[in-house]
Amino acid sequence: MTHPNATPGERRRVRIREVGPRDGFQNEPETVPTADKIRLINMLGQAGFTRIEVASFVRPDVIPQLADGVEVLRGIDLPAGVERMVLVPNSKGLDNALRHREYFESVALFVSASQTHNKRNINRTVEETMADVAVMGRRIVAEGLRLCAVIATSFGCPYEGEVPLGRVLDLAEQFAEAGAAEIGFGDTTGMANPAYAGRFFAAALERLPGVEVTAHFHNTRGQGLANAYAALEAGCTSFESSFGELGGCPVPARSTGNIATEDLVSMFHEMGVDTGLDLDKVIEAARTAQQILGRTLTSHSIIAGPVPWARAATH
Ligand code: ZN
Repeated sequence: MTHPNATPGERRRVRIREVGPRDGFQNEPETVPTADKIRLINMLGQAGFTRIEVASFVRPDVIPQLADGVEVLRGIDLPAGVERMVLVPNSKGLDNALRHREYFESVALFVSASQTHNKRNINRTVEETMADVAVMGRRIVAEGLRLCAVIATSFGCPYEGEVPLGRVLDLAEQFAEAGAAEIGFGDTTGMANPAYAGRFFAAALERLPGVEVTAHFHNTRGQGLANAYAALEAGCTSFESSFGELGGCPVPARSTGNIATEDLVSMFHEMGVDTGLDLDKVIEAARTAQQILGRTLTSHSIIAGPVPWARAATH
């Protein structure tokens, strides 16, 4: 069933990477038991995701929530063709990740567009980080892995305020030169608005031909879905989101909330935009996460349930 207002013949298709198992769990106060993580990721695989950010190779003393990354990678059972992504913070993390090369297909490297956020997040300057990116990028591509870049604070910095678009796109070009097949622009602390998001993605798509451009919005100030819609209208077809609206950012405190995958999928399906996902199964995974965490999560769709014409996973 499609919405009566969906225009026939204009079906569009988007790709959504589920980032809850990494971006979500990392930034929740609880440490989710390994067996529960595995169960939830398997549920996400059954919901139809073809891209899941599964784990990261950060130091376990820095992020204890993700210390079991290798066990999770080993334990999950995903349908063939699902691209498993791991996040790597530096060369040491990459050395460590490559010891487990058989468990993932893509690697995410990241930097913050603002100097202060980068310093506070990983204690290095943007230039130091990008010098490493050039070296790490070559290694990742040489391993036959897909390199995905993430540029945090692309739409504003909680410490520095405005982040110039030109600066973000310069960093994106450096990532592209380092071999990135995909570049995600993160609204790490929820500072984008739909008008700017539209202009931003139009400019990014024009500046980065041949690179997949991905929108990663946070719902910190309630504008996440509106921003995703603006990005879609600007031509963006790749998105990241987190089931249950899990996650946020480690710095500063209270930077809560990726956009909820189930709300994003619901919006797209209602508009007649295909995601390839089974919305009921995404909601089921989010409700299970809610049970495991033992507290109410902030996504809307786990409370209201889907409207009938948002259910179908049309291809
Ligand atoms: Zn995020």
